Amino acid sequence: MSASLPDILPDLGQRSNTVTVFAGPCSVESPAQFEEAAACVAGLGLSWIRGGAYKPRTNPHSFQGLGERALQIMRAEGSERHGLRTLTEAMDADLVDMVASYVDGLQVGARNFQNFSLLRKVGAVAAREDRLVMFKRGFAGTIEEWLAAAEYVRLEGCERIMLCERGIRTFETSTRFTLDISAVPVVHKQSAYPICVDVSHAAGQRDLVPALARAAVAAGADALMVEVHPDPARAKSDGAQQLTLPQFEHLIAELRAIAAAL
Ligand code: PEP
Ligand code: MN
Repeated sequence: MSASLPDILPDLGQRSNTVTVFAGPCSVESPAQFEEAAACVAGLGLSWIRGGAYKPRTNPHSFQGLGERALQIMRAEGSERHGLRTLTEAMDADLVDMVASYVDGLQVGARNFQNFSLLRKVGAVAAREDRLVMFKRGFAGTIEEWLAAAEYVRLEGCERIMLCERGIRTFETSTRFTLDISAVPVVHKQSAYPICVDVSHAAGQRDLVPALARAAVAAGADALMVEVHPDPARAKSDGAQQLTLPQFEHLIAELRAIAAAL
């Protein structure tokens, strides 16, 4: 297992201080919506775009994602049109092979962090197809439990695992979750995995996102996840936390300055 992934490009920073950015909408909603986000991400020289096809919504009446149609859009508008690598969440073990046939990275979401049969399946498919696994921390999981759960993925032969801190449940209600920035140095101390920080799901509100992103880069995160949407007010999920594209461009410029100084 290596602390750096060979296909992770230096999106931010110079020399050895590189931070990969996984930006994109919460949900893939239409070809036009995803293409606009992809054009922005690619225009900034970033290498990955994220997007939800199968959404783990609290309420079954909420938008559930476009499913395989979303994966087709990601491939057409993200990979083929803009040359981006694509990341999406796989929620169902039976669909992992199909999902992996469309994208470059498989995300395991916070709500599935101890779904061991899913972890085994994602690990096996990612190993066979050489896909990245973005493994989110459960919002009530300790770092010890998270690292133990990552073993289910790794034992299937998957070496391209990136952990993702996305906020935990605490007594604090001002943010959607409490970003555990300590997870960055703790994961670096206790494992060889690279760590991503998802600032959007922790913040829950877009005005808090830039400060958390600056903190994550300064703390030494290997990657950042940021939700961006061409028109957040009309987003089908997580509208309050998604950055507009101009806000995201401004943030990347700020982060590049921080990363360059590290
Ligand atoms: C997501 O990244 O789309 C997502 C649902 O995140 P989480 O699993 O961290 O809630
Ligand atoms: Mn979201």
